[in-house]
Amino acid sequence: MKLLLMGPPGVGKGTQAERIREELNIVHLSTGEILREEVKLQTNIGKEAIQYMDKGKLVSDQILIEIVKERISKKDCHHGYLLDGFPRTLPQAEGLEIMMHSLNHNLDCVISLIANKDELIERLIKRGEEAGRSDDTSNIIRNRQNIYWAQTAPLIDFYHDKGLLIEVDGLGEIPEITQRIINVLP
Ligand code: AMP
Repeated sequence: MKLLLMGPPGVGKGTQAERIREELNIVHLSTGEILREEVKLQTNIGKEAIQYMDKGKLVSDQILIEIVKERISKKDCHHGYLLDGFPRTLPQAEGLEIMMHSLNHNLDCVISLIANKDELIERLIKRGEEAGRSDDTSNIIRNRQNIYWAQTAPLIDFYHDKGLLIEVDGLGEIPEITQRIINVLP
């Protein structure tokens, strides 16, 4: 099973992705986490990426496409993976199509988690306080929300037109949302 999990920042993508990984026994691939690891290790990619991440901006498509291409080419991804936080722009979505095609991978579906914007901003501020994430302060949160609606939300149409999009209500108890997702998987 090869899936994408989409949704605005704060909707609980990461939490749900982990739970689905356990359910389906597939690889959970979070580009945000990969980038935070690169930052921690102070690699060249990390040094470049932090300048954007700290402002809530997107890191370049080229870097992201390279990262994902390398990762999904690994053997453990052959059985299945769930992409969380990628693609975030149309060029990334097109890049993903090309790389998946070249690897003979088939995208099964795209889950889009839906939630109310104000509730999300509140959740994110709380998460920032709890987890100490440097990109979870209120201005940056608003910036990340705006970027989502401007650059990432168009992907909803992109995948809808391909017949791959499944929308799921992202509000409610965590296990309940996981079950909703599991129930709609092809
Ligand atoms: P996330 O954990 O998915 O919210 O990602 C945290 C930050 O990493 C984002 O605000 C971006 O700066 C960067 N990032 C993660 N994934 C991508 C992506 N697909 N394209 C561009 N930037 C990304």
